[in-house]
Amino acid sequence: MTFKPDDTHNPELKSWVETANDPATEFPIQNLPLCAFEVTHGEGEQLHSHAHPGVAIGDQILDVGLLVESGWMEREAPEDLVEALQQPYWFGLAHSPRLVHDLRVVLQKFLADGAGGGQQIRRLRDKALRPQSRTRLVEPLPIFNYTDFYASIHHATTVGAMFRPDNPLLPNYKHVPIGYHGRASSIVVSGSPITRPKGQQSPPETDPGSGPVFGPCKLLDYELEVGMYIARGNELGEPVPIGLAHDYMLGLCLVNDWSARDIQKWEYQPLGPFLAKNFATTISPYIVTMDALAPFRRGAMERPAGDPRPLPYLWDDQDQKHGGFEITLEVYLQSAQMAEKQMAPVRLSRGSFRDMYWTFGQMLTHHASNGCNLRAGDLLASGTVSGKESDSRGCLLELTWDGAGADGKPRPRRPIQLPTGETRTFLADGDTVVFKGICEREGYRTIGFGECRGTITGSRV
Ligand code: CA
Repeated sequence: MTFKPDDTHNPELKSWVETANDPATEFPIQNLPLCAFEVTHGEGEQLHSHAHPGVAIGDQILDVGLLVESGWMEREAPEDLVEALQQPYWFGLAHSPRLVHDLRVVLQKFLADGAGGGQQIRRLRDKALRPQSRTRLVEPLPIFNYTDFYASIHHATTVGAMFRPDNPLLPNYKHVPIGYHGRASSIVVSGSPITRPKGQQSPPETDPGSGPVFGPCKLLDYELEVGMYIARGNELGEPVPIGLAHDYMLGLCLVNDWSARDIQKWEYQPLGPFLAKNFATTISPYIVTMDALAPFRRGAMERPAGDPRPLPYLWDDQDQKHGGFEITLEVYLQSAQMAEKQMAPVRLSRGSFRDMYWTFGQMLTHHASNGCNLRAGDLLASGTVSGKESDSRGCLLELTWDGAGADGKPRPRRPIQLPTGETRTFLADGDTVVFKGICEREGYRTIGFGECRGTITGSRV
């Protein structure tokens, strides 16, 4: 894996897709995130659909499958890339960082402004583009396994302080990347509705003897996270050395790890998250490749003096030097009332992914350190991304927390005021939560992740 920007990041590169040259776009020709969209063929009983690979460019999706079918790829791309693109989704090239890079180069050739070509090419250009607004995006890779980490020390500290004010961080935190196995089957793409889960909740504090209750979650929350797609797997029993970990990564996306706090509070001891988490997880539909992210790499978070150095299997100088990412992350909320009145969503928080205590290299290596086999298409999520400042907290559990009073008991939560006069401490039915992720650096084109959006609908009866 190379961590350095190259000619494909040249900010002067422009595309004949005009909207890709708009300074405000998240998808200039320097980004080209991978996605998949549904194509239907036939009619009536013969109707069937399958996923076509595409990349986002400006406000359009480029149908990469069509470039293969039309023969254009065969003429322009290396043979092994053409072969790799015959496989469904992005499986064919996911395992090879070199193929991902080759695809980027060849697509830039197709999309670059001034690229020559006659009438045939012009027809292909027209046919290969479709507006994002009218394209149904699906998972870019079928996700087999999903693991969620806890890599933000600010999140771990704030949440820990709610339960252990004097000792918020557990003694293992600075030694081991904490994680749990999530549920892959309930991962949905941005825009899918989220049904409020039902579940068992603890007896009310006022009447602890009354026993638990079962019903709709009352403390529904989001968690702002960044996800990493595994590019290639390791054999069962075979660890991944941290020096090679970055070769196993395909790219990043945004993740909303929806969380039912009341269900979580009652069920999590002693085995950890279960039904409070597995009812739904939303992903943004694009994989922003490690290639595209090269200019936005940075060093891992500097550990404060006195913090223990992780064990040698989790330490690599290159990973420390390049394993972090400069991604600005934002959370927006729009209530049903706001949507009805056509009020824009309000921003709840703004943070940065650079503040993570553990790198994806360390998370991946730790995951495989016992011989657990990762597979292409697995998703590893970072855990809630929270910063030091109170307005950079990545979930409502933290954002509306108001600390403890003089008596040591938690003060009432501080509600968020919405422009309609409504207030929120947790999510209401009809609320839409939108995450955004942007990478900016002087001298480079800004790139983005696209939206990670979900609207809460009432529990099923
Ligand atoms: Ca989480």
